[in-house]
Amino acid sequence: NGVTLERVREHVWEITQEGEMRTPARVLASEALLEEISQDKTLEQLQNATHLPGMTNYAICMPDGHQGYGFPVGGVGALDAEDGCISPGAVGYDINCGVRMMRTNLTYSEVKGHEEELVDSLFANIPSGLGGGGIVETGIDDVEEILARGVDWALENGHAVEDDLLHCEDEGMREEADPSKVSQKAKDRGKNQIGSLGSGNHFLEVQRVTDVFDDEVGAAFGLEEDQIVVLIHCGSRGLGHQTCNDYLRKIERQHQGLLSQLPDKELAAAPAGSQLAEDYYGAMNAAINFAWVNRQLIMHRTRRVFERVFDRSWEEMEMDLLYDVAHNIAKKETHTVGPDGRPAAESDATANEERELFVHRKGATRAFPKGHPEVPAAYRDVGQPVIIPGSMGAGSYVLRGGEASMDLTFGSTAHGAGRLMSRTQAKNDYWGGDVQQELEEQDQIYVKAQSGATIAEEAPGVYKDVDEVVRVSDELGIGDKVARTFPVCNIKG
Ligand code: 5GP
Ligand code: MN
Ligand code: MN
Repeated sequence: NGVTLERVREHVWEITQEGEMRTPARVLASEALLEEISQDKTLEQLQNATHLPGMTNYAICMPDGHQGYGFPVGGVGALDAEDGCISPGAVGYDINCGVRMMRTNLTYSEVKGHEEELVDSLFANIPSGLGGGGIVETGIDDVEEILARGVDWALENGHAVEDDLLHCEDEGMREEADPSKVSQKAKDRGKNQIGSLGSGNHFLEVQRVTDVFDDEVGAAFGLEEDQIVVLIHCGSRGLGHQTCNDYLRKIERQHQGLLSQLPDKELAAAPAGSQLAEDYYGAMNAAINFAWVNRQLIMHRTRRVFERVFDRSWEEMEMDLLYDVAHNIAKKETHTVGPDGRPAAESDATANEERELFVHRKGATRAFPKGHPEVPAAYRDVGQPVIIPGSMGAGSYVLRGGEASMDLTFGSTAHGAGRLMSRTQAKNDYWGGDVQQELEEQDQIYVKAQSGATIAEEAPGVYKDVDEVVRVSDELGIGDKVARTFPVCNIKG
C-alpha cells in the first residue's frame, strides 16, 4: 500500500517522516495484528494524519486500529492547541462513544437460569435501534441543560446518585461545553433519544468475571471472579452525528487554505484559535455531555430491570458504576514534550516543556497511570480503569492505565478488538439467526437484537482477537491487564 514501516522494537513500528509529513507515525501492534491492520487503508490514513498542523511526537495507531473517516479508528493525534488545529474527523462521528461498566454483587450461579427473562426485560425497557424514543421524554429546554451540565442534570432529575459522577471520566461533565454552538437540527435529533442505545455496534451486555489477573488492582476496582457486571456501549446518537457533520461542512468551506495542504479532505481541520475551532470545541464538549447522560440513563434503567428480575433493591445488589470512559473525543490537555514537537523521552530533559495539546482519541481510550490528578480519587493509587470490549462471543477486559502511557501514547490505549471486516462483508459471511443460535447453544450467551442483520454485522468473527490487542497494551505498559469478563446476555441496537 505504499507505506514503509520500520520496526523500532517489539510491538513498535514507525512510518518514517518524509515529504510533507510533519512527524513520523507509529503503529503499536504485534506482527499478527500489524498484518491485519495492513489490509485496509489504516496505514495510509495514519500517514496522512501526520500532515495536520501541530502534530506532536507522532500520529499513533493502537493495536486495534482499522480504517475510519479520514483518521483511523484506534488513532491518537495530539495537535498543538496554540498553533495546531482541531479536526472533527479525528474525533469521529459518534462524539463520546464510550463504555461504562457497572458492578453487582451477584454471582453467575444466581443469574444462571434467568438469562432469558433478563434479556427480554432489558430489551423491553431499554430503547434501541435507529431513530425513535428514549428513556425520558424531554423538551428542548432539557436538551439545553443536558448539553451544558452533563450527568449533573441526571443527578438533579433523579437518574443518578452522587457516586455515579465520581466514577466517570471528567465526572460526567465538560465545563467548556457551549450548547449555543450545537445546531437546532442536532438538538431536534437528540431530543427524543436520551437514554437509547442506538443501532449496530452499540450494546448492553451482562457479563461474568472469568479472571482477575491482578489481585490488588482487582480489589481496588471491586472485581472478583464469578461476579456479574454490566457493560454499556453507546454514544451521542443523532445529536453527535449531526454536530460532526455540521462542523465538517463549515470547516471545509471556511478553511480551504488548510484543507488544500492536506492529503485527504476527510481530515478537514480548523486552525487553533480560529472562531470555528472554538465553536467546534464548545459544540463537541456539549455532545460529550449528552452522551454521558445517555449512558447514565441506560445504566440507571438497568438497575430497575435488575430490581424486578431479582426482587431486590439495586443498592442491595451493590450496582455501582465502576467507571465510564470515552473513546471518541478530543480534549485540551497539558503534556510534557520535547523541542520541535519531538517526544520528551527522546531528548535532553532540560529542553522539554509543558504544552497544551488537543489530544484526539478516536477509537482510543484514555489510560492515565496512578497518581495522575485526573484519575478519580478512589483509583488514584492504582491507575485509571480502562474498559476494552471484545465481542458478543469473546472476552472483554478491564485494564488500568499503565506507567508508559504518558510517554508513548499521550495517556491512551486501545478501545476494543477493532473490526476485521466491513459490515457488507460480514452480511455476506454470516447469517444472524445462525450466529445467535450458535452463541446460545455453544456458549450459553443469550443475544437479542432489533434485526438479524445487526447480529451478522456484529458476529464475533468480524472482530480482531481482543486477547492479542490487550496483550500488546499490557506488554507495552500503556494499559495493564486487570480482569477479563465473558458475555452472559446481550442486547443490540
Ligand atoms: P466501536 O464500534 O466503538 O469502534 O467498537 C467498540 C468495540 O466493541 C469493538 O471494537 C468490538 O471489539 C467491541 N464489541 C462490539 N460488539 C460487541 C459486543 O456485542 N459485546 C462486546 N463485549 N464487545 C463488542
Ligand atoms: Mn458509537
Ligand atoms: Mn464506540
